[in-house]
Amino acid sequence: MALHKGPHGADDSQERRRLALNPFFGEADPTAGMTSAPPRHRLPDGPLPPATAYGLVHDELMLDGNSRLNLATFVTTWMEPQAGVLMAECRDKNMIDKDEYPRTAELEKRCVAMLADLWHAPDPSAVVGCSTTGSSEACMLAGMALKRRWAKKNADRYPSTARPNLVMGVNVQVCWEKFCTFWEVEARLVPMEGDRYHLDPEAAAALCDENTIGVVAVLGSTFDGSYEPVAELCAALDALRESGGPDVPVHVDGASGAMVAPFLDEDLAWDFRLPRVSSINTSGHKYGLVYPGVGWALWRSPAELPEELVFRVNYLGGDMPTFALNFSRPGAQVVAQYYTFLRLGRDGYRAVQQASRDVARGLAERIEALGDFELLTRGDELPVFAFTTGPDVTAYDVFDVSRRLREHGWLVPAYTFPAHREDLSVLRIVCRNGFSSDLAALLVEDLRLLLPELRAQSGPADRDKNAATSFHH
Ligand SMILES: *Cc1c(COP(=O)(O)O)cnc(C)c1O
Repeated sequence: MALHKGPHGADDSQERRRLALNPFFGEADPTAGMTSAPPRHRLPDGPLPPATAYGLVHDELMLDGNSRLNLATFVTTWMEPQAGVLMAECRDKNMIDKDEYPRTAELEKRCVAMLADLWHAPDPSAVVGCSTTGSSEACMLAGMALKRRWAKKNADRYPSTARPNLVMGVNVQVCWEKFCTFWEVEARLVPMEGDRYHLDPEAAAALCDENTIGVVAVLGSTFDGSYEPVAELCAALDALRESGGPDVPVHVDGASGAMVAPFLDEDLAWDFRLPRVSSINTSGHKYGLVYPGVGWALWRSPAELPEELVFRVNYLGGDMPTFALNFSRPGAQVVAQYYTFLRLGRDGYRAVQQASRDVARGLAERIEALGDFELLTRGDELPVFAFTTGPDVTAYDVFDVSRRLREHGWLVPAYTFPAHREDLSVLRIVCRNGFSSDLAALLVEDLRLLLPELRAQSGPADRDKNAATSFHH
């Protein structure tokens, strides 16, 4: 559970709740450390020497997984040492203090301008945008802008009679469910159907009415790494409008894909080239290649971002517009994003993302060649693919595979699909920079060696599937 409760349990005596101290952690006298074991769930009465405190915390963290072997996460797990140095130099800077740290503010502005250009804004100087703590915050901001624009247009009906809705595929990331719950918007979900695991343009348009604040298109889906058909969605919404229906704006949730498609799929029109796309978000800490947490939200022009949502902070004696949920947040990640843009350029990003896609495609093929598995996707959109067990496999299931791979250090999530395809359970592998083809070969080898044991099972172990589904978002 993400929400933490206080410690419970009858056998949780005061002594058990104390942290165990290594005698070596004492300053000079190895017996001293033993007498001052601090409590686990209560603020200690007194201080510890810094080396002792460091040792305790460091040791406790050893059992965290190895982040480089975490094939569940989309989030960056490796950066160059120079990026680490820059981030350390900036860890004391608060992003909101634009007046005190004007150069950090300037780098944020440059990042927004670079993204506006990368995403083909017809007028990059008109684009408004900001950094956030990640795509979740960016999606909240984009959703709020959609809702406010709709509310202004429908002031005669809202809030008295009309209830706003947001149309999206059932495969959206959990942040959109949060948005709808937090901001009291009805979530209208396009279900999966057969082998279609993401939004269908016609089905989405059919769900729209005069209370639809927007449609969210995901580039790409966290379930299987596929891109949603943004251009086709815009065409379906154009047709809806032309036939006298509502004029519905599109937000592209490009948490991963907005930093992949511009480099590897240049001809794919998913961005501000499509006039109906009013805003786009991405996670700087996913394929933007920066450590967590930084995200970006951009609007085509100020008309897409209602003025009353924007607050002003002091900036060099003038005022600077800001749009954010947080007030204070770290500046280091924004600096690291600018560093990475400068360091890689378009060609560098292309090379890094191509390498990830090559690894994903190669790995998908080799897993398919093992014979027991069927691919849902092949890693040729996001460098991510999902696969399941073939129809003849009855001795084990994807949850067994996930658990057995974990014994070898690999974190590969298994999870069940949503409504209409709850029968389908898959494994998903996210290939990121740092997951080399050598590591991929080791993974295939470990999986290959596990297969005889898995095939010899009398049936799926059928343990806690909910636990297995928890880490795929
Ligand atoms: C990861 C993700 C999010 C949430 O992004 P964070 O940066 O983790 O807050 C939203 N949408 C999609 C499609 C994602 O992949």
